[in-house]
Amino acid sequence: MPEKRVDDQPSPSHDMLAEAQHILHEHLTQLGLKRSSQRDTILRAFLEARNHLSTEELHALTKNQDPAIGYTTVYRTLKLFVQCGLAAEVEFHDGVARYEQRLNRRSHHHMICTQCGDSVEFFSPEIEELEHRIGEKFNYVTSQHSFQIYCTCEACQKQSRDSVANAQ
Ligand SMILES: [Zn+2]
Ligand SMILES: [Zn+2]
Repeated sequence: MPEKRVDDQPSPSHDMLAEAQHILHEHLTQLGLKRSSQRDTILRAFLEARNHLSTEELHALTKNQDPAIGYTTVYRTLKLFVQCGLAAEVEFHDGVARYEQRLNRRSHHHMICTQCGDSVEFFSPEIEELEHRIGEKFNYVTSQHSFQIYCTCEACQKQSRDSVANAQ
């Protein structure tokens, strides 16, 4: 089974956590907000998860480490991560806002299971190339594009086969 995440590493390095924390603290200072151990805990949980997380999922992860962290704090802290470029919202068009780490990550595309929300990340130089080619054709300066593949994952295919078999 190929890796579902690009630029894979087992867990964020000490240096990367320190860099992320520095970026967050600078941003908080600019906004006149105080550093807090809760925000640092949320940041660490977010980076260590290395996944596309909804606010609820991140809240569940942080609660294990500090039960005092509330949903609203996680929600607001995620917005701060987005503002300072540590995170970006990934839109899977299923009504759930998910966030992923942006620090030290290459731009990539997603393939999403519409049944269970599982996702695969991939690179495609061909799509980058296509963006530039179409831009050039019309003399537009392109800046970014969005490309997602929607599908049914292997586990969900199996599940629907099994439920058909059971119904017979
Ligand atoms: Zn699935
Ligand atoms: Zn991603």
